[in-house]
Amino acid sequence: SEDFLRKADKLNVVGQLAAGFAHEIRNPLTTLRGFLQLMQSEKNWKSDYGDIMVDEIDRINSIICEFLTLAKPQSMSFKEHDVGVILQNVIMLLEAQATLNNIQFHVQVNSCLPLVKCSEIEIKQVFINIIKNAIEAMPSGGIISIVTVVQANYIYIRFKDQGEGIPETLIHRLGEPFFTTKEKGTGLGLMMCYKIIGDHKGKLAVNSIVGEGTTFEIKLPLW
Ligand code: ADP
Ligand code: MG
Repeated sequence: SEDFLRKADKLNVVGQLAAGFAHEIRNPLTTLRGFLQLMQSEKNWKSDYGDIMVDEIDRINSIICEFLTLAKPQSMSFKEHDVGVILQNVIMLLEAQATLNNIQFHVQVNSCLPLVKCSEIEIKQVFINIIKNAIEAMPSGGIISIVTVVQANYIYIRFKDQGEGIPETLIHRLGEPFFTTKEKGTGLGLMMCYKIIGDHKGKLAVNSIVGEGTTFEIKLPLW
């Protein structure tokens, strides 16, 4: 019966997600529909409208992309990986975006870390999401420190930014589907992170001080 309950719980979560998803997609679609109607009458058309339409389409696209990662059946392709190598690849990927935003990475990642049994694609997604959030939290630039620590049978990966921080009253909402404080946010990134880290039998912890910055800590069991 416990198993049944768990399944019922999961179905409930899926139902809530689907409802939220429909809502989030419907908003930009309504905007797009309105603009297309305007376009047909032509005389009221302004050139900005095209930009708004592109933004709205991008928004639908990112919601669908993040949602697909969540909906994907749990991957069975866990292999042994050095998360330090995955981390270096992600940092390289985001270096240009960081530089454009006046942000520097301070990286202290040991080479040849003990291996973690994981899905490389998913762990990469988690790193990208956390670093992107850090970048977005520092509109006027700063430092993102990334550190790995091996202790007992776990590896800890810490991402520390010097951003705006998260008020204590909002901390418990992190990971809630569609919870975002950003104008163009999807509010799905952290939810995906919690799910993926959970699938890896790990933990994701947050520590934040408003006006000082935020640290996200991933704890993963070593293989
Ligand atoms: P999104 O980035 O689309 O808003 P996320 O799930 O990635 O969605 O993040 C949810 C919210 O958590 C963000 O809107 C922001 O308010 C807060 N947040 C996440 N990471 C940070 C961070 N490093 N600094 C400050 N706030 C953060
Ligand atoms: Mg995000």
